[in-house]
Amino acid sequence: MDVTPSGRAVTAILDDAVAGRRISAGDAHALLLGGDLIELGLAAHEVRCRHNDPRVASYNIDRNINYTNICVYKCRFCAFYREPGDAEGYLVPREEIGRKIEETLALNGTGILLQGGVHPDLPLSYYQGLLRYIRATYPEIHVHAFSPPEIKFVAKKERMSFFDVIAALKEAGLMSIPGGGAEILQDGVRKEVLAYGKTSADEWIDVMRQAHRNGLRTSSTMMYGMGEPLSSRVEHLQRIRDLQDETGGFTAFISWTFQHEHTEMADVPETYAHEYLKTLAVSRLFIDNIEHFQTSWVTQGKKIGQLALAFGADDMGSTMIEENVVSAAGTSYRMSQDEMEHLIASAGYEPKQRTNLYERYVTREDTAEQAAKYMGSLTPENRDLASSLLPVVS
Ligand code: SF4
Repeated sequence: MDVTPSGRAVTAILDDAVAGRRISAGDAHALLLGGDLIELGLAAHEVRCRHNDPRVASYNIDRNINYTNICVYKCRFCAFYREPGDAEGYLVPREEIGRKIEETLALNGTGILLQGGVHPDLPLSYYQGLLRYIRATYPEIHVHAFSPPEIKFVAKKERMSFFDVIAALKEAGLMSIPGGGAEILQDGVRKEVLAYGKTSADEWIDVMRQAHRNGLRTSSTMMYGMGEPLSSRVEHLQRIRDLQDETGGFTAFISWTFQHEHTEMADVPETYAHEYLKTLAVSRLFIDNIEHFQTSWVTQGKKIGQLALAFGADDMGSTMIEENVVSAAGTSYRMSQDEMEHLIASAGYEPKQRTNLYERYVTREDTAEQAAKYMGSLTPENRDLASSLLPVVS
C-alpha cells in the first residue's frame, strides 16, 4: 500500500475533499504532515455538515459491560486484562449483567456494549446463552457485543468460520458488533505492541466483512499514539475506507489516543489534543463513505470532546454509564445526560439522543416509562447520572 505523502499542495487537497472528490492515502499523509490545524478543522467541518444535519450533534446513552477481564492475550498497551488464574480476574455473573442493564434503562439508556478480555474457557454456547438471556429478559435494550478478537477466538476454539460464528450469535440475539481491537491495522505495528496474536489486520477486517455479510452493522475504530509511524495510521484509514466501499456496513468511525498509565508502554510520549484533533479532521476528510464520526471525550476529556465537534465529529458517543478499560489506564470521566446536553448546546448545536445504530432520535418521553420501571435499580454511585427530569430517587 503506497502511503508516501502525495506532494500535492495542502490547499488543493482540502479543496478536493470539501468538494466531495476523493483524496488519496498519499494526500491524507500530506495533510497529517503539513496541514494547518484550523484549516483542517474548517474543511472537516464542511464535510461533516454535508453528511449530517449541521444544526444537530447527537449522543447516545449506553453502558460498557466488560463481562470478563480475563484474557489470553497480553497487548502491551492494555492495563485492563488479567491472566487466567490471576486473583483479580473476574467473570461477571449473568444476574449482575441483568442488574447493570436495568440501571442503564433507568438512566434512559438504549443499549449496552458487551466486551471482554478473551477468556480461554468460554465456548460459543456461553455467548449464545448470555445473548438469549438478555434478549428474553430485556427486549428493549440494544446488544452491541463481542469485538473481532473475541469472535476470532471462538471461531478457532469451535473450528468454525467467522461467518458461521457471527450467524450463530446473531441468531441468539446479537444486534451489532463493536469495532474494538483494531488499534492500528498494520501488522508491523500489531506485532510490536503484541496485538497481532489477537487478530492480524486481515483477520480484523475479515471479521467485520463477515459481520456485514451477515447483515449486522458494526462500528470502526482506531487507537494510535503508540509510537507507530504516521504512514501506518494512513494505511489503517485506507483499510477502513476500502471495506466500507465493499460492504457499507460501518455506522461510525471512532478514534482515540493511547492512554498509557499502568501499561507496559508507560514510557511512550503522550499524544496531546493538537494531534488528536488533527487526526480526527484528516480521518473525516479521507474516509468519505462513513456517515458518523464520534468524539472520544472519554479519553480526551469533556472540553476537547466538545471542541472535536468543530473538527469533523457529529456525535459525542456515549454518556458512558460504566467504563473499565480506559479507566484502568488512568483516564476516568463520567457524564450525566443533562451534562452531555449542556456540553453540546453550549457548542452551538441542538443535542439529540440517538439509538445505537443511528436509526432515529430518542426523546425523554420515549424512555420515561422504562426509566420509571427500573428506577429502583439505580446504585448509589450512579444516582448522580440520573436526569433532572426523572423522578427524584429516595
Ligand atoms: S486489549 Fe483486549 S485482547 Fe488485548 S490484552 Fe487487553 S483485553 Fe486482552
